[in-house]
Amino acid sequence: SFVIRAEMFGQLTSGLEAAWKVLTKENIAEPMRDIRRALLEADVSLPVVRRFVQSVSDKAAGVGLIRGVKPDQQLVKIVHDELVKLMGGEVSDLVFSKSGTTVILLAGLQGVGKTTVCAKLAFYLKKLGKSCMMIAADVYRPAAIDQLMILGDQVGVPVYKEGTEVKPSQIARNGLEEAIKRRIDVVIVDTAGRLQIDKAMMDELKQVKQATNPAEVLLVVDAMTGQEAAALVTTFNIEIGITGAILTKLDGDSRGGAALSVREVSGKPIKLVGRGERLEDLEPFYPDRMAGRILGMGDVLSFVEKAQEVMRQEDAEDLQKKIMSAKFDFNDFLKQTRAVAQMGSVSRVLGMIPGMGKVTPAQIREAEKNLQVMESMINAMTPEEREKPELLAESPTRRKRVATESGKTEQQVSQLVAQLFQMRVRMKNLLGVMEAGSIPALKD
Ligand code: GDP
Repeated sequence: SFVIRAEMFGQLTSGLEAAWKVLTKENIAEPMRDIRRALLEADVSLPVVRRFVQSVSDKAAGVGLIRGVKPDQQLVKIVHDELVKLMGGEVSDLVFSKSGTTVILLAGLQGVGKTTVCAKLAFYLKKLGKSCMMIAADVYRPAAIDQLMILGDQVGVPVYKEGTEVKPSQIARNGLEEAIKRRIDVVIVDTAGRLQIDKAMMDELKQVKQATNPAEVLLVVDAMTGQEAAALVTTFNIEIGITGAILTKLDGDSRGGAALSVREVSGKPIKLVGRGERLEDLEPFYPDRMAGRILGMGDVLSFVEKAQEVMRQEDAEDLQKKIMSAKFDFNDFLKQTRAVAQMGSVSRVLGMIPGMGKVTPAQIREAEKNLQVMESMINAMTPEEREKPELLAESPTRRKRVATESGKTEQQVSQLVAQLFQMRVRMKNLLGVMEAGSIPALKD
C-alpha cells in the first residue's frame, strides 16, 4: 500500500485532503465548509453533517493553539476526536448470554451481504473458540438456503433448515431448541431481506425475535448505502429494536459515510465490518480507524494489521522499527510490494485507502504495471544497494547499471530512488514521528 500510496498520492486527492491545505489559523469558517462538503461527499446524511459541523465548530472556536502544533493539525485532531466519539468511541464487543446458547439475529435488506455475514460471523466466532450453528430462516429464496448450506460446509458449522414451507419464527424456534440440545454456544439466524423496507418483513422479524430472545439483533448495512443508511437504521431500530450494526463492503468505493450515520441516528454501535467476500474478511469496527478513513488520513493501522497477516511477525516489527528510524530500504520496499500482491488484487488494497475511492480500472492497471517495473529495478540492485539506497542516490554509475540490467531508463531508476526517500518521510509523517528526515538530492 505504501508503494501504491506514494505512486498515486500525487494524482488523487479527496475532498478533505485538499481541504487541509487551505486551513488557516485565522479562519476556521472556510475549512469547516470544506469539512462539511467532504462529509457530504463521503455520503454522510445531511442532518448528521449539520449536527457534526456545528458541534465541531463550537469545540474548535476559541481553542488556543498548543505550542508546536500547526492550526490545521489541531483542527484535524478536533475533527478526528469528534468523529471517533460520534461513532461510539471504542470497539463494541458482541454480547453473549451469560449461560446457555446465545442467539444472534441478523436483519437487513436484500443483497447487503447478510448471508455472507452469517457465515463470516460463524467463522469469526469459531476462531474465538465458540461452537456455532446457523439457522436458515430466509424462506422466500430457496437459493439463500442452499447458499447457507454451502457456506456452512466451508466454515464447518452445522446449518439448521426446514425448507420454505415453515414459518421463519417456527424454524428459528426449532433450530434454537436443537442448538440448546447440542450445547451449541452461538446460534446465528439468517432472516429474509427485501429490496425495500416493508411491513411483512418487519412483522416477520419481530416474530423471529420474539421466538428466540436474541442477545444481539444486528442490522447488516451495506457501506455503499450512504445517505439512506440513516433512514434505514432509524426504521429498523424503531420497528424491531436493534442492538448494533454490521457494515459490509467496506472494501468498496465508499468513504464510510454510513458508519457516521448509524450511531448518530440510533445510538447503537457498529460492531463488525466486512471488508471482502472471503470468510476471513470480517473484523471488529474500530471507530478511530474509521475516522481516519473518513478524514482521509489513511486506514493505516488497519492496513498494517493486514500486512502483518501476510508478512511474518518479526518482519513486520522489523519494518515498523525501520520506518521509525528511517531505515526503510529497498528490501522493505520489495516486501511491501509482494505483500500487496499476496493480499489480493491491487484494487482490493486500493479500496482500503481513503481518497482512493474513485480509482478507475485504468489507474489500477497502471499501478499494477508500476509495481512490476519497480520490482524489476529492485531485482537488478546489489544487496548492498538495496540496504543502502544512499549508494544509488550518490552514484550515477550505479543507477546506470541498474537501468541497463533491468532494461529501464536511468530516469526511471532515479525516480524510484527519489521515491524511496519520499516514502520514508511520508511514512514517518503518517506514523506521527516528529523529525521526518530530509529527502536528499540525487547527485549527477
Ligand atoms: P444477502 O442478500 O444480504 O444475503 O446478500 P449476500 O450475502 O448474498 O451477498 C450479496 C453479494 O455481496 C454477494 O455477491 C457477496 O459476495 C457480496 N458481499 C457480501 N459482503 C461483502 C463484502 O464485505 N465485500 C464485498 N466486496 N462483497 C460482499
